Amino acid sequence: MPLDPIPIRTVVRGACPHDCPDTCAMLISVEDGRAVEVRGAPDHPPTSGTLCTKVARYLERTYSDQRVLHPMRRVGKKGEGRFERISWDEALDTIVERFGAIAASPDGPQAIGANSPLALPPRHDSQPLATRPCQETSPAPAADPCPYCCRPH
Ligand code: SF4
Repeated sequence: MPLDPIPIRTVVRGACPHDCPDTCAMLISVEDGRAVEVRGAPDHPPTSGTLCTKVARYLERTYSDQRVLHPMRRVGKKGEGRFERISWDEALDTIVERFGAIAASPDGPQAIGANSPLALPPRHDSQPLATRPCQETSPAPAADPCPYCCRPH
């Protein structure tokens, strides 16, 4: 009786794809083209081999049968969980159309992503306090977060 072949395991170096300042280095073990283990690289000085809980369980999400692999459009009311698959072209056209309508509305592009650097005025931390846009437009107490940079000042 032939023996099952022993799977060949290779380790690939990678970096976390999240936009987090740690930029953790990762070691991904791969068998037969499928990732089977993800761990932090011990020689990465900032983290010494630790991954945060989001990324330490990356394989569960990557191979989850609930992972969304195609653009989906909601067809029912919010919360009903009813969606239909649409093409990438249709998804991109829909986004362009709706973002354009919001940007042209009285609310302007800030209504799309209030924390996006594209929607915010330039950073103003280095401006004199009295000339900061948050001081000009927001008479909120100092403990409230600034609507422009989300920091209290
Ligand atoms: S693994 Fe976690 S802590 Fe490290 S860069 Fe990614 S998101 Fe940030």
